[in-house]
Amino acid sequence: MKIKVAEDTYLVGIGVSPGIAIGAVSLLDQRPLVDQSLIEAEEVEAELLRFQQAVERAREQLQKIKQTVSRQQHLREHLYILDTHLLILEDEMLVDGTEKAIRAQMNAEGALTQVLEQLRALFDNIDDEYLRERRSDVDAVGERLLRILTGVSERTIGNIGHKSLVVSHDLSPAETMQMDRSNVLGFITDKGGRTSHTAILARSLDIPAVVGLESVTSMVYDRLPVIIDGSNGVVILNPSEETFKEYLERKQSYEYLERDLECYRELSAFTTDQVHIALRANLEIASDVEQAKKHAAEGIGLYRTEFLYLGRSTPPDEEEQYQSYCEILRQANGEPVTIRTLDIGGDKFVPELNLADEANPAMGLRAIRFSLQEERLFKVQLRAILRASSSGKVRILFPMISGIAEIRACKKIISEIQSQLDQEGIAYDPDLAIGIMIETPSAVMIASLLAQEVDFFSIGTNDLIQYFLAVDRGNEHVAYLYDPLHPAILRALKETCDAANDAGIGICICGEMAGESLYTLVLVGLGLNELSMNPACIPRVKRVLRQISKEDGELLVDRLLSLSTSKEVSTAIEQEMRSRLPDIFAQPRI
Ligand code: PEP
Ligand code: MG
Repeated sequence: MKIKVAEDTYLVGIGVSPGIAIGAVSLLDQRPLVDQSLIEAEEVEAELLRFQQAVERAREQLQKIKQTVSRQQHLREHLYILDTHLLILEDEMLVDGTEKAIRAQMNAEGALTQVLEQLRALFDNIDDEYLRERRSDVDAVGERLLRILTGVSERTIGNIGHKSLVVSHDLSPAETMQMDRSNVLGFITDKGGRTSHTAILARSLDIPAVVGLESVTSMVYDRLPVIIDGSNGVVILNPSEETFKEYLERKQSYEYLERDLECYRELSAFTTDQVHIALRANLEIASDVEQAKKHAAEGIGLYRTEFLYLGRSTPPDEEEQYQSYCEILRQANGEPVTIRTLDIGGDKFVPELNLADEANPAMGLRAIRFSLQEERLFKVQLRAILRASSSGKVRILFPMISGIAEIRACKKIISEIQSQLDQEGIAYDPDLAIGIMIETPSAVMIASLLAQEVDFFSIGTNDLIQYFLAVDRGNEHVAYLYDPLHPAILRALKETCDAANDAGIGICICGEMAGESLYTLVLVGLGLNELSMNPACIPRVKRVLRQISKEDGELLVDRLLSLSTSKEVSTAIEQEMRSRLPDIFAQPRI
């Protein structure tokens, strides 16, 4: 039964990737609705047959997926998962248990659901963590069988057959990576926040997206017409003719403006008082380097290497990483490439790396903590980075540093590897720049001490805001508190920039704030000399940068630091930018 959706139903969420998308819904994660009921004795045989046919059908589906996967080199290593699922289909407890329950006059879906619950309880009591995790495989097989029995087809982000707007409860970064760009016009989710990694990926894929809508999946159905306004975080279900026309015009203006910005490609990034600010690109996957080149980024300010590790059963070995880094360096044409070591944990979860199941993963064994504990894995990555440093300008960046001991431990491992490479006669850049992410409150508080240890800082405002304000960056319920303009954040940025500039080291910002053109004047005034962002943001930021001066930025920052609420800060910034650049900031946002 379809839910009735009133014309022009407006929903407001968090706009995480700009642009307008108009189309029809493809709803992912439609859970099979299980009707558990008793059957008559004479229906038992037919129900048994229905269940056995479902098992057979599931087997055929899995064999078919296996054939497709084995034809694709980069996916071959996932074959073992499909073999595990085929084995589960033969499992006695699952099959015999379900048949037994059907014989006790329960319908097939009900019988299977009961058995799955028993199996889940068994798995939960297993001590061995590896075996306990296999519960998810049983769930996946159970879900496949239930879909077949209830007639709900399986749809994933990778196999949407036609151009549509994807609606889903949540999307993991790994799922977002598999997104079929040619068919996904835009996406909206119940969960998520502005700087969750799914949002970051949406921006780099250039797909309009709104997240944090809480219950949109229960309000829509397949093929419902919808408009996504990713710039303003608005979603309109079942638009009227008038709204449709209005948004079609807005979409055309947005695309026109984007094309217009392309002329900034050839222009340099200098302020009116001749201060050069390097506008660099953030990369999630190596192929994003194309986007970086398209928008004339001055090198890569952040390469999030953890995406190399996502969605595979074994981590990439030294050679694979080396090749991948060299390819990026080749494309960077002599510009610097900042390679951040594995920043795993939080919402970037890699099941295959056996991360502990932690109550509070954002503050757990993540990023540099994980690398220093799993030293073997860390050394593989560092060797690959060091080797690559002989073929271009590499800068190495360590994530989530919270104290001096961590950076010293990293530097010690680097010098051990350098000695090894010397012995083996393998080249590397002995002057390789070493930097750290400033994204924890402790790092801000000791920024002047950390500045003595490294060549550059890169401020990760996505996490810095999360940790400073104690607001989960991916949680839609507290998104209203996630505030880049909180006076505490401005002070943290100022302290960090001053510490770096006093010590004469490089100072970059690579969190999402860097790509927000409304903040460009403030960032320049704070003393940042590099901004690293989603490449698509570079033209807008450059356009603003070329019309402002560092001196005006410093005056604005002084004024902002005297204000006591974020509302006052944001109003002051908006007024300033509107009066300086009315052509850009006085218009409603499209
Ligand atoms: C940050 O925290 O600001 C950052 C750039 O890193 P990530 O978003 O990958 O955590
Ligand atoms: Mg971070």
